[in-house]
Amino acid sequence: MITEKQATMIAHVLHEIRPAWGIDGTRKVLERNADHPAAFGEVLSAAVTAALDPDTQTPGRIYQIQTHWPAKAKPRLPKPEACPDHVGQDGGTCRSCWADVKAGLRPESHVGKHWEPPTGIADALEVSLAERLEADLRP
Ligand SMILES: [Zn+2]
Repeated sequence: MITEKQATMIAHVLHEIRPAWGIDGTRKVLERNADHPAAFGEVLSAAVTAALDPDTQTPGRIYQIQTHWPAKAKPRLPKPEACPDHVGQDGGTCRSCWADVKAGLRPESHVGKHWEPPTGIADALEVSLAERLEADLRP
């Protein structure tokens, strides 16, 4: 568990390493996971490791990728949630989801989360046009 002050400190450190990671956004991720059982030093270590990992695109992944965590903290980490779309895969690191992302079939924001692909460009256009028409016809 970390305090608000500790979350702010980690957010500033990560921003120095990864300027694209905003301080407020990182702090929100850390505050959302404030009940995480890891100690401050372990969270800091995992966060820095995540920030140094070029494959980690957002601070939200700090808590999803267990390989970023120090070995002694791993046994106490909560079991990662299973991917809702792929049986036997962890949500944060689901290889099948990442394969979908690389193939352009799933947005990266939905790795480890349920994704309902659009039914097709024609359907999407039809819905969009219908919504637009409805908006134009409103008094
Ligand atoms: Zn998956």
